[in-house]
Formats: sequence, C-alpha cells, structure tokens
Amino acid sequence: MQATAAVVREAGGPFQLETVEVEDPRDDEVLVRIVAAGICHTDVAVRNQDVTLPLPMVLGHEGSGVVEAVGSGISHVAPGDHVVLSGDSCGHCRNCHGGRPSYCDDFVESNLTGLRRDGSSPLSQSGEPLRGRFVGQSSFATWSVAPGRSVIKVADDLPLELLGPLGCGLTTGVGTVLNALNPPAGSSIAVFGVGTVGLAAIMGARLSGCEKIIAVDPNASRLDIARDLGATHTIEPDAEDPVAAIRQITRGGADFSVECSGIPIAVRQAVDCLGRPGMCAQVGATPAGAEIAFSMDHIGFGRGIKGVVMGDSAAQTFVPYLAELYRSGRLPYDRFVQYYDFADINQAVHDSAVTGKVIKPILKMS
Ligand SMILES: [Zn+2]
Ligand SMILES: [Zn+2]
Repeated sequence: MQATAAVVREAGGPFQLETVEVEDPRDDEVLVRIVAAGICHTDVAVRNQDVTLPLPMVLGHEGSGVVEAVGSGISHVAPGDHVVLSGDSCGHCRNCHGGRPSYCDDFVESNLTGLRRDGSSPLSQSGEPLRGRFVGQSSFATWSVAPGRSVIKVADDLPLELLGPLGCGLTTGVGTVLNALNPPAGSSIAVFGVGTVGLAAIMGARLSGCEKIIAVDPNASRLDIARDLGATHTIEPDAEDPVAAIRQITRGGADFSVECSGIPIAVRQAVDCLGRPGMCAQVGATPAGAEIAFSMDHIGFGRGIKGVVMGDSAAQTFVPYLAELYRSGRLPYDRFVQYYDFADINQAVHDSAVTGKVIKPILKMS
C-alpha cells in the first residue's frame, strides 16, 4: 500500500511530503494508521544533522494512531485499538528484562538507523529502500509499520491526536523526575530549559510533592507557562546568575536538578546549584563530543550528575499511566500544544525550533 511521508533528504533541508510504499507487517509488527505526531527537538536535530544519522530518512517519533492490522505474533493490540508509538528495544537483554528498555543493548540499532535490526526497512520508493523505522515508527507519515514492542495501547476515550507526545517528551520529563530522581516530598528541584521536557519535569516535580520548583529559561513567556504548571520560582539566566539565585531560594542549594537544554554552561550550572547531597539528571542533548569540567571539591560532597534516557521508563506501562494523569487533570500538557496540518510541517518546525513561539507542535495527518 501507499502512504504520504515527510522525507528529509539533506542536512537542513525541508521535510518533503512524498508518496512511499509501505510493506505489510511482519509477524512481530503492527500496521498503524497515524492520526497525529508530535514534533520533538530530536527530529529537528537530525534534520539539521546536529545529530548525525543517515539520510534520507522519515523522522517522527511521537506518533499516535489506530491499529489497522497485526502480524501473527502480536497479541497485545488488535485492529481498531488506539495506540501511542514509542521507542523499540530487543526485549531480551539484561536491561529490557529489568524494565529499563531505554538502555537496551540494541538501542542504537533499534531506534537510530532508520532500519529494522536486520537492516531492512518497511518503507520504499521505486523499489529502493527508504529509512522508515526511526525510533520504531517514522511517524511523520500517514501509515507506520512498527515493531510490536513500540506499540502501546491507550484508552479510546481520550483525545488520540493529543497522546503522541506521551511517547517521548512527556515520558522523558515526567519519568526523569519520578523514576530517575524520585524526590521525596518537600524536596527542592531546579529545571534548566522549559520546553516540553522541562515543563513535563515541572509537572512531575509537582506530582512528587516538591516544595520549591525552580524554572530556569531565557524565554519569559515559557517561564509564565512553567509557573502555571507548578513552578514556584522562575529565573531568567540573562538577568541573574542562576546558581546564586537557586542557592538563595533553597538556602544552600537544590536537592535535585534536571538539565534539559544541553547547553554546556547550563549543565555546569545545573550541577553547581546542587546542595549537599544533590543529584542532577542530564537530559538535554549536548553537542557531539562535548566535554564539561566540574569542580571535584563540589562533586565530592555527595553530589552527582547522571544521564537519563527516556525518563528511565518502560513505555508500555508508563505511557498509559501518563494518559491517566492527563485524564485526571494532573498532567495538563494540552496547554502548550498547537496543532498543524501535516502539510504545514515545515511551518510547525519553524514555529517551534526557530522562533520558539510554539512549545509542542502536533501534526494532524488528515
Ligand atoms: Zn523526542
Ligand atoms: Zn534489549
């Protein structure tokens, strides 16, 4: 069958809507009619080749849709089910068995090559394979053939077009706080960079009962949203030194921090602002090859930094949990979503990645 897909052919080039051929699902795969897909910073980073993955490729990794057909080995979803797509994993390495599939031994092969682990692709054009397995989905398309492990059933009475970002941005932000940091109630936490992931971290901090929740971002309008979603304090790093300000607000240093910008100076600040003890979760993608210096006099007093991928979450259980938090009003991320028609994908990228006026664009496929 055929689909319309947004193909990126060159670094910095446009997302071009093209017709592609879609294979039938294999035994362990699911054919999904994509209803909507969020645009995440990582999609744009690959398009710009700040993250150097092979092109051409169909990107998109916050898809939601309806199951059309399943392979013979699939039993957890059936045609007609509403689903969210998330990352793929092998299912049988130590970390997959341990409930931490984002640290799968085959993470790169499963998610970042744009191909199945056997090197094939479910998409092609004129008989030539086209990379169509990005993060288990390549959901900037009207149809996706996804591995079963990437396909997560969600309640069918929730707005399906809103749910795709649960599979990456929301999982990453909320999961980093709840799973990777797990702050006790009454803790203080600083969040550097309040795009989708940072705002999700702030909502996670509120869910955890954090007492002082400090948002750091140069964009004042984003700080307003952060305050709406639970930030108790906000800091514009261009106007004041965030480390000094956080130490003052927390009377000595934050118990936890989450760094979402990937900007090396902010990474250093997210560690320097910690109290004793304190832990920084590094989530933002730093520049390739970046090395950042820390004071060991500071680290030595019970402080640390750890990288976190996909919120240390098992998406098959965490995404439905987030969906129920949304339903109950405790994860109101719809406040920073803007919808676009699929055909306007380049405008949506511009509005989020270039001007920054939109935090979470979601493409509607029909
Ligand atoms: Zn993402
Ligand atoms: Zn694995």
